[in-house]
Parts: sequence; C-alpha cells; structure tokens
Amino acid sequence: MMTEKRNIPISLPVTGEEEWQAVKDPLMTGWLTAGPKVREFEQLFAERHQVKHAVAVTSATTALHLAMVALNIGPGDEVIVPAFTWVSTANVVLYQGANVVFCDIDPKTFNIDPEKLAEKITNRTKAIITVHLFGLCAHMDAIKKVAGEIPIVEDAACAAGSGYKGTPAGGLGALGCFSFHPRKSVTTGEGGMITTNDDALGEKVGILRNHGASISEEQRHHGPKPYILPDFNMMGFNYRMTDLQGAVGTIQIKKLDTFINERDRWSQYYINELKGIDWLQLPEHNTDYRHGWQSFVTLIDHDEAPYSRNEIMEKLQEMGISTRPGTHAVHMLNFYKDKFNIREDQFPGAKQANDCSMAIPLHNRMNKEDFHYIVRAIKSL
Ligand SMILES: *Cc1c(COP(=O)(O)O)cnc(C)c1O
Repeated sequence: MMTEKRNIPISLPVTGEEEWQAVKDPLMTGWLTAGPKVREFEQLFAERHQVKHAVAVTSATTALHLAMVALNIGPGDEVIVPAFTWVSTANVVLYQGANVVFCDIDPKTFNIDPEKLAEKITNRTKAIITVHLFGLCAHMDAIKKVAGEIPIVEDAACAAGSGYKGTPAGGLGALGCFSFHPRKSVTTGEGGMITTNDDALGEKVGILRNHGASISEEQRHHGPKPYILPDFNMMGFNYRMTDLQGAVGTIQIKKLDTFINERDRWSQYYINELKGIDWLQLPEHNTDYRHGWQSFVTLIDHDEAPYSRNEIMEKLQEMGISTRPGTHAVHMLNFYKDKFNIREDQFPGAKQANDCSMAIPLHNRMNKEDFHYIVRAIKSL
C-alpha cells in the first residue's frame, strides 16, 4: 500500500544562503559580541510581537532565569509551573533557591489548567510561569483572573508569532521568554529573547544579562569618555547573544509569518485527514488563538488504539517517519521525583500527556508528498 519509503525528520530548520551572507558582516567588521545586529534583531522582534522591550539572551532557559531574578524570586518563595513542560521551566525556579509548585495541565490543550491553578496559590506564591506549549497560548483570561496581582511569566519558548485574542505572545504577562533553539520555528542556533511592556523590568533584564553593568560594551566602546568603566549596581550574568546569532535572527524573524502560515495550512490538512481516527486526539485550535505550530502534537487513546503509543511510534519509525513524545512530565523525571517525593498520579493530566502524546513531523522543509505519506501511514495503522 505504501509506495516508496521516505525519510522524514521530526524537525529541520530553514537556514541557507541569506543567513550565510548575514553572518559575514560581523565576521568582517570584527564586532562579534552583542552589538548592532543584536539590536536590529531585538527591534524587529519587538515590532512583530508588539512589545516595548525585547532583550536578546543566550536561550529561553537563561531568559526564564533572568525573569526570576528580575521579579526578585528567592528562598522561601513559591513559583507555580505546569507539570508538563520542558525541564528548564522548573529548573530556573530552583536556580533562585525558591520552591517549584507544580500544577496539572489539561491534556486537551497541554497547557496549565486554570481551575487547578487556583488551588495552588498561597500567600508565598511570587510568580506563575505559564507555558504556551507547542505554540498554543495558555488560557490567559482565566489564568489572569485567578492570578490577580501575582506576576505571570510567559514561557513562550515555542510561541514566536503565536497570539491570544489578538495580542501576540510575549505581551500577555509581565515578561515573555522565547527560544531560538533549532527545534523552534525560527532559530539562531541557540538563543533567546525576553519581552516586556514594563520599562523598569525591560531595563533591569538588559542590565542583568550583561554582568549587571550600567552601560553596554557598545555604549562604552563608542562613547566619548574612554576612561569610563561601567558601574555594577547588581549581580548579573553573562547571558549576551552574539552578533553572529543576532545577524541570523534578523533574517529568520522576517520569515516567521511565512513559516507559521505554511505550518498552519498543513496542520489543517492533518486535521482534516486524521479527524476520523477515533483513537487519535488532534491539537486543540480555535479562532481565539493564533497557533504558532512549533509542533503538531497528538494524544493517543490507549483504550481505543490498535497499539500502544510506543508501538505506534516504532511502526512509524520503520516507515521512515520520525515522531517524539510531546515533552515530559517534569514531576516524573528522576531529579524531581526523588527531590520532592512526588507520586506520578498526583498530576494525572501531565502523566497522560507524558505517556500518550506523540508529535508528528511538521516543519518548513517538508513537501506535499511528505505530508501525504504521513497521513497514509497513520491511516494504515
Ligand atoms: C525549548 C523550550 C525551552 C528551552 O529553550 P532553550 O532555548 O533551549 O533554553 C523551555 N521551555 C519550553 C516550553 C521549551 O519548549
């Protein structure tokens, strides 16, 4: 039934001649650390996400860490984190010596469940990290209602270009944290961005990423007073993005909407073709959201499915189709399980997503035949 076997990776970034040309500039001028290219990338990113400030850093993980520092999270504080997310969403809370409080997710959206969130808030709750997993924004209206005055940090690592009720991700909470890892829709190799509409927070994260220095290297280098060294009023970090990465970012960000539109069209194709399969839950999507489609993640119903999730993944692998679990339930990872003595069934939504989710290939280097092949393969199960 299946014709010639194909080989389709789960994800592949689109980089090429334009990015190659862009890195030449910093290499030729010799300005390699955060400078004019990073600034240009930040401006383009801020415009696209309609935020006042965008500060480039080395990853979404360091962006999230700086968000914790900027909000003065420390020992004794509690930060609520969804139980189903990339591990670093929780790690950054521990970096600050604060306590991670896990909250269950809704396996229909893979995002934090606002009703369960309400039960997790105490007078020690200092922040809530909401994840826009796989490019679908969390249910921000309900979350904000529950959160009240508690600041919300968006883990928007998967959500470049995503939106919620007309507002782009990154402007939905106090601070937004994006990733440019090659698994995300736009990439700089490694890299991250912090966004905010709050002037004080924007200035603070900008200083924190550069050792806590009061002026940037670029300002110092080009300024009229060569004897000035920066002063340091806070303890910062070196989380600066290089201008090589910034140069790649200026090209990638301009392609973001083309990438998402193409992913959106193929997601609709998947949904139309696969909606008749009763053991396969397809990604939730409605007009309140602009889905960024970082991944197309399904959920397998083990009562109805002909095989287990892992068997299905193996069968697809044999047909040359690479798949992955959506992500992991952090409370089930050894470090967290042992350290906090958590039972797997304490977060049933996250456990179900951990055990039953399956991402199928969706990226911008797939062609029509790849999508048709994948649909045929899944239907043949
Ligand atoms: C990818 C990802 C991260 C980490 O991003 P890095 O840039 O690799 O640090 C964090 N949170 C979520 C939800 C992610 O998908």
